[in-house]
Amino acid sequence: MSKGNINVSVENIFPLIKKFLYSDHEIFLRELISNATDATTKLKHLISINEAKVEYGNPQIEVKIDKKKKTLHIIDQGLGMTAEEVEKYINQIAFSGAEEFLEKYKDDKNETGVIGHFGLGFYSAFMVADKVEIITKSYKDEPAAHWICDGSPEYTLKEHDKKDRGTEIILHISDEEKSFLEESKISELLTKYNRFNQIPIKFGKKTETLPLPEDADKDAKPETYQVDNIINNTEPAWTKKPADLEPEDYKTFYRELYPMQFEEPLFHIHLNVDYPFNLTGILYFPKLSQNLDIQKDKIQLYQNQVFVTDNVEGIVPDFLQMLKGVIDSPDIPLNVSRSYLQADGAVKKISGYITKKVADKLSSLFKNNREDFEQKWNDIKVIIEYGMLSEEKFFDKAKKFALYPSILDDKHYTFDEFLEKTKDAQTDKDGNHIILYASNKDAQHSYIQDAKEKGYEVLLLDSPIISHLLQKLETTNEKIRFTRVDADHIDNLIKKEDTVISKLSDEEKEKLKPIIENNISKEKYTVQLEAMDSNSSPFIITQPEFMRRMKEMSATGGGMMGMGNLPEMYNVVVNTNHSLISNILEAKEDKQKELITQAFDLARLSQNLLKGEELTNFIKRSYDLIK
Ligand code: ADP
Ligand code: MG
Repeated sequence: MSKGNINVSVENIFPLIKKFLYSDHEIFLRELISNATDATTKLKHLISINEAKVEYGNPQIEVKIDKKKKTLHIIDQGLGMTAEEVEKYINQIAFSGAEEFLEKYKDDKNETGVIGHFGLGFYSAFMVADKVEIITKSYKDEPAAHWICDGSPEYTLKEHDKKDRGTEIILHISDEEKSFLEESKISELLTKYNRFNQIPIKFGKKTETLPLPEDADKDAKPETYQVDNIINNTEPAWTKKPADLEPEDYKTFYRELYPMQFEEPLFHIHLNVDYPFNLTGILYFPKLSQNLDIQKDKIQLYQNQVFVTDNVEGIVPDFLQMLKGVIDSPDIPLNVSRSYLQADGAVKKISGYITKKVADKLSSLFKNNREDFEQKWNDIKVIIEYGMLSEEKFFDKAKKFALYPSILDDKHYTFDEFLEKTKDAQTDKDGNHIILYASNKDAQHSYIQDAKEKGYEVLLLDSPIISHLLQKLETTNEKIRFTRVDADHIDNLIKKEDTVISKLSDEEKEKLKPIIENNISKEKYTVQLEAMDSNSSPFIITQPEFMRRMKEMSATGGGMMGMGNLPEMYNVVVNTNHSLISNILEAKEDKQKELITQAFDLARLSQNLLKGEELTNFIKRSYDLIK
């Protein structure tokens, strides 16, 4: 037996370890299981290169709770350690690793969430245990060793009579941490961190039921028996080759990953790269539901099949964070802050690679099965549009498959297709190519109807960030103007062949304008007289594209924040050829007021702008009219 002192430079790191990362104490289990896994895969490697001449068998890792003794055991059948190796790896190397880690991070209290992603290795056991024992038997022909350390820098190391190869770590769980002696707690942690561990993990027993034979008595009870409870799937889908997987396998894995998620994913992307960095994974496009709860199911980051975090900020581009699935990479530095991560070259490459893979997948879906792609468009458009706005490279690719549904023929066009289709039909007086769109079929119904009657195409663009995207699309071609159908009267938006002759003289118009202005709120509405078809409405409320778009953009962010609260500004387009307008001109002052108010209210009603007291008054007045 030998006794010793673990280190010299730091007085006592154990109290520090205990206090450290109090919210992340649970990671000790992941650390110890990772060590057990490493020990097993190392043995496999040694056997494969003929370094170790032992039988590999079917090694498992066992986790056991002994409630009476208040101990938690992690037992592996890996390569084990000789007494000499315990001295070296546990007393010196592991200790100095932990010490270095603590030195680096002890003042960094704000970043604890980040540090938790990275372990301080074997010594994290002291976050939850008063005393830790290691009983280990090397694959080499040497006696087993028994190391005991009670949380002070002193330790003892003696021989042990353990005969089978491998290592058992025994944690004497401290009173404050006794939740780690609960089966439910350990089970939860194993599921969280290790459900895709490379080596099978056994935890307790479970009951299996034998199927009843076909000729069984009707009140025969099925036979049950106990089997080892293996908590993990050692070969999750992302570790396999895409060629070896069926579409159904990807769906099954999705359900395995998110058991509470009942909606099927729309499609998946299998990531697999080994140069210039190592990364595997499967990403899924989910059906975005209104239910924000599903946002809890995030992309999970793994390192060699061990769960690290579901905060993939900086690693996965922002616009893809609504995706689901798994990324596994040993090359992502986890022991650094997020801001560092964003500047890290390797991480930038990873983010770029993911963006490219997603764009390529979408592009091939579009090319190979456009019909299916169109059907899914509504569910994926927000992600794609957001991506087009935030990543230039993605924009260049997505431009070719982003879709714009037309209201009139119910077809989906790409941007170029739509430009081609409307190139002769839709220009304004200056020869700009006008693309009419609506954001809401119902709210803008009468405007859409007007455009339809003139034979113009109208797109339905209803994403929340669409104004930003239109702004960007316009910069790709200076002749293009996206214009919402209610931005002006349709005849003002698109050039007319034959101009309508005005029924009113200039004098009459000059007289009319102040009459109307005096009867509506001038701060919000600008009166605009136009000679139009006599069957066009007498009053139409419009909102100039530029003003409205700026307002929308400042509401949805993206560099327009400085604009503050833009006022609501509308135009009232008055059709001077309508018979009502002639009536107004001829009427007495009282009657004029009545007619203008009623007509103006109707126009506002059709733009959903009549509310509250004004709406109540309007309804009352309308009843009076028909009574
Ligand atoms: P790391 O795993 O990063 O090397 P740890 O502090 O977790 O650091 O472990 C230190 C070392 O102790 C390991 O590198 C390994 O050599 C040894 N070790 C820890 N646990 C085991 C185990 N279960 N079986 C064999 N060796 C182990
Ligand atoms: Mg380790």
